[in-house]
Amino acid sequence: MHRIIFLGPPGAGKGTQAAELAHRLGIVHLSTGDILRAAVAQKTELGQQADGFMRAGQLVPDDLVLGMLKERLTQPDCRGGFLLDGFPRTIPQAEALDRLTEIDRVVSFEIPAPTLIERLSRRRICPKCGTNYNLESKPPRVAGRCDLDGAELVHRPDDQPGPIETRLKVYRDQTAPLLEHYRRQGRLHPINASGSPADVGARIRKALQ
Ligand code: AMP
Repeated sequence: MHRIIFLGPPGAGKGTQAAELAHRLGIVHLSTGDILRAAVAQKTELGQQADGFMRAGQLVPDDLVLGMLKERLTQPDCRGGFLLDGFPRTIPQAEALDRLTEIDRVVSFEIPAPTLIERLSRRRICPKCGTNYNLESKPPRVAGRCDLDGAELVHRPDDQPGPIETRLKVYRDQTAPLLEHYRRQGRLHPINASGSPADVGARIRKALQ
């Protein structure tokens, strides 16, 4: 069974790689960002509480995210394994996760900050299925439309310069300390996340062997 965490700054390619690897391994891909964006779009109570934090590039409070994650992780499809993408993002989230379940491996995406800013500003996503595109390196086949379902691609409000800067700072201050948390547990596998998705994917599979 695979219980994997992808850890890394926004724009490092976690979402793209997570979708691909989860598919290969036949495990559930759990992106807290995707779940929250769906809640915002559906205007659920959680979505309404999360919306302002997300737009600003701030983290959604731990209790909200934890409640949502616990509910999702205890569903039957997660029993065969899961890949967490974008969770945990704070030390309290990691400690709560440690109490909830065992984690096998944590892949940390290492990449220089200028590359992140470039990737985030060129990113477009499908609001329907969550697939990520990049105007330069991974454009959709038809301009502005998702390859999988034809929905109109959007530029996330938090992929604009102000929120990007906030998100990178939030990562450094609140999420980067998790690297030490998992290093101490002997579960951390750092990989070089620069280069093409195919190259990065190969490095991840090697690290997980
Ligand atoms: P992402 O798609 O992973 O970049 O997440 C987008 C936004 O959703 C983040 O900037 C946060 O506002 C929120 N979010 C996603 N996951 C978490 C989490 N584990 N804890 C707190 N906020 C989160």
